[in-house]
Amino acid sequence: MRSVPVLIVGGGPVGLTASFLLSRRGVPSLLVERHPGTAIHPKARGINVRTMEIFRQQGVEDAVRNAGLPPERTGLIVWARTLAGEEIERRTPWRGRAEAAQISPVRNCLCAQDYLEPVLRAYAEGQAGAELRFNCELASFEQSDTGVHATLLDRTNGREEQVAADYMIAADGAQSGVRQALGVGMLGKKDVYDSVNMLFEADLRRWTTDRPAALYFIENPELRGTFLTINAHDRWGFLVNSLKSQGLRAEDFTPELAERLVRLGAGIPDLPVKILGIAPWVASAQVAERYMMGRVFLAGDAAHEMPPTGGFGMNTGVQDVHNLCWKLALVLQGEADASLLATYHDERQPLGRAITEQSLHNAISMGRLQETRQAAGARPEYLNEIGMIFGAIYESRAVVPDGTDRPAVANPVTDYVPSGRPGGRAPHAWLKKPDGERISTIDLVGNDFVLFAGSRGEAWLDAAAKLGLALKTVPVGPDGLADVEGHWHELYGVERTGAVLVRPDGYVGWRSASLPADPATALAGAYHAILGRV
Ligand SMILES: Cc1cc2nc3c(=O)[nH]c(=O)nc-3n(C[C@H](O)[C@H](O)[C@H](O)COP(=O)(O)OP(=O)(O)OC[C@H]3O[C@@H](n4cnc5c(N)ncnc54)[C@H](O)[C@@H]3O)c2cc1C
Repeated sequence: MRSVPVLIVGGGPVGLTASFLLSRRGVPSLLVERHPGTAIHPKARGINVRTMEIFRQQGVEDAVRNAGLPPERTGLIVWARTLAGEEIERRTPWRGRAEAAQISPVRNCLCAQDYLEPVLRAYAEGQAGAELRFNCELASFEQSDTGVHATLLDRTNGREEQVAADYMIAADGAQSGVRQALGVGMLGKKDVYDSVNMLFEADLRRWTTDRPAALYFIENPELRGTFLTINAHDRWGFLVNSLKSQGLRAEDFTPELAERLVRLGAGIPDLPVKILGIAPWVASAQVAERYMMGRVFLAGDAAHEMPPTGGFGMNTGVQDVHNLCWKLALVLQGEADASLLATYHDERQPLGRAITEQSLHNAISMGRLQETRQAAGARPEYLNEIGMIFGAIYESRAVVPDGTDRPAVANPVTDYVPSGRPGGRAPHAWLKKPDGERISTIDLVGNDFVLFAGSRGEAWLDAAAKLGLALKTVPVGPDGLADVEGHWHELYGVERTGAVLVRPDGYVGWRSASLPADPATALAGAYHAILGRV
């Protein structure tokens, strides 16, 4: 029987990302995807800054940007009677504003899922140790204390194959067969509103180029819909929600009806339109009770299904596997205790619940759950969810608390206070290399453990060298990377003799505000605690 350390079920954006995250940490994996190729519908489009930070840290940022559109071509959100008609409102979401650069050196990107997945697939297939099999499905599985036994079905020839895996990642989407087979319940609301997505070709530049937006909401007495930017030229989506309130039914959507609705939304009766696809779907707002069952982990839509209002589904899924894969790698490589894996559920499931709830609040504020038509709008938080994108705070055994309080925020959805407190994302600060080039802390973390030592923290560097721990050291100060804006110590909340240990997912695992009597014992204690070895 074939053996593999990790079996990944599902070749959507989350499974594909898991594949290269594991490969880059030296863990071989087998990914199976039941379809012959990647997505044919452009479902998710908005890749948020946090996900782009991860793609950058993994070396795939440029390829993703080349497949998508830059922020300046999608910076606005527009409300109008029709595309050609009166404009009601336009907003610049936070990500399009100058202050976004203070939080991250990385910008968001719009890349439709059917353009993104081939990029992630090619990147995953290019990594040593990865095998990706399309047209191949997980038919059944069982697990024991020592591993997962899976039966795969090759759909090209109908042959079955038995595979033994140490662990399995179920990135098999919202209808997750793995989740159902394990009997994991869902918390929240199923089927909150119905929708139809239409993919079409039409040249809409005349009505869009001078107000480049990611979304053009259409609101008139006959129709409520949304034009979705895909290539900002001749490939677009048109989305109609809450069908009943508009006297529509998903089963009635023919190419003729779709063409008529696109022209109605555009306000151009003779617009040449070619319908490429019609995809009905139903939004839900629910999260799995457990993300980890024995040796099986749920990730992405298999773990949480949320309304796309806010664009968090895929982003949250990519960030799930970014949290999981370093833990799996260190456990498989004998560097961490298996108990570290339980922190995946502890850290990601509460966050999945919070993000799903806020995505639902967005949808409610936009009238998506109404049975009858009402004026469109969106609460001010919509597309300004800075707190949700950057402000996640993990509380688990893989974080060593330092007794300080969480940064106070008035609105956790919109407000983010950068902080070096354990449990939060290691914030962005500019440092300067000896050759004068600037580098962000975001480009120093995200793969290995990193120990930042303050400008008088030589003792930490000595301790790390003496202990021989598998971590990178970054001295901030005259002997290392200069603190360009002079606020690294303040931002990370340490004195000049302090130190901060950042985990391989870019989250702070531990910090010491100043130098203790025995730095080696303090550092070793924190490192081993994060890895579950004490
Ligand atoms: C209209 C719309 C707009 C959206 N917009 C956004 C957005 O802007 N930003 C955002 O972040 N998210 C958005 N989303 C959500 C996003 O599309 C999903 O969150 C994302 O696709 C989830 O990725 P995934 O890899 O978890 O699951 P999926 O993409 O569903 O992939 C799961 C894969 O598993 C495969 N599979 C299932 N069972 C098996 C099996 N037994 N064996 C082998 N393979 C199997 C399936 O074939 C599928 O390819 C949107 C969704 C919709 C519907």
